[in-house]
Amino acid sequence: MKNLIKDQYGLLYSSELLLSIILLIFIIGVVANLSDGLNEKILSEEEISSLEAIAIESSDYLLNNPGNPENWEDDEGLKNGIVSKNIIPGLAIKNKNVENGEFFDESASDEMIMSNAISYNKLIKIKNNYDSLVDRNLFNDSVMSSMVIYPLNSQIRPIEMGYDFDNENDNVNDNNIVTVNRTVKCDFYSNFVVYNFNDFELFGDDYNKDMFCNHDTNPNLTNHSNDGRSLWVCKSFRVYKESLDEYEYYLISDESVKDTGTYWIFESLNRTKENKEILNQEVIDLNPFFLEDLENSSDEIYSIHFNVPKNRANDFKTVLVAIPKNMTDVLISNDGLNYDYFRVQDVNFVLKAGYR
Ligand SMILES: [Zn+2]
Repeated sequence: MKNLIKDQYGLLYSSELLLSIILLIFIIGVVANLSDGLNEKILSEEEISSLEAIAIESSDYLLNNPGNPENWEDDEGLKNGIVSKNIIPGLAIKNKNVENGEFFDESASDEMIMSNAISYNKLIKIKNNYDSLVDRNLFNDSVMSSMVIYPLNSQIRPIEMGYDFDNENDNVNDNNIVTVNRTVKCDFYSNFVVYNFNDFELFGDDYNKDMFCNHDTNPNLTNHSNDGRSLWVCKSFRVYKESLDEYEYYLISDESVKDTGTYWIFESLNRTKENKEILNQEVIDLNPFFLEDLENSSDEIYSIHFNVPKNRANDFKTVLVAIPKNMTDVLISNDGLNYDYFRVQDVNFVLKAGYR
């Protein structure tokens, strides 16, 4: 029963928008047939406004719907360039919640579709299959279009896809192109974050260490309580040997971490360490450490402790990530092993459309 309600709800929402897009495509088709050589002449006001309407409707649909069928982005065919005609792509993120600027897997409601937040994974699937997914399935081959994602953060490169309206061989009159511009959030690789260590941003001067730290309870180890000059951030987590076959664990820090004078301790709970080391690398591959430590056991609890000078706390930004092994090469070659890619980022979504 629960599923039935869910499906009805999802279908209703999607089909209203889809219907208006189909209707608009039909109108455009009629208009296009009536006028010959559209590209040579300037479009009439009516033609431009119906093109505008379809661009706006399509943008709304893409940004507010997760797409059809559900989890279309995982379709096996997409990996081999085989695109079903039944897939209507959508970019919205489902089953995710936003809190403190982060996405969490545990959603308050299963039904939740986040408005104005788009999935980087879906975006890449669309980019790689634009002709089939957008030109054919969404626009019924009646409109030429392009989409560009411009991150507001300059550390992240824009993502461009679709028709190249800026190309000099482009034969569409500039006056016949409409543009829709929306500011949305994009999750990028934030799904891979296991822990976010920049708690200070959230707590500021009131920061209180409330995490369990084995150094506080073990009389043989130096206590990790905060003094007036520096703050401790300590977290423990379990790692299974099996998961090392599937995931590559990295500690990734913002480049500003080098100047903060942050020290860290990384240890197994059974083999504790007392001495802290300076943290001056942006990317640290943790798998070699885990592999060695887990040689004779199936799992262990590990803990990471950071000691951050209080006056540099705002520049301390570090995440522990677990990246599926089949994706690590792609991430490394795209400079994706960069702190900014593991944060939810504001981006400008720009859709351009013109008649074929
Ligand atoms: Zn600690």
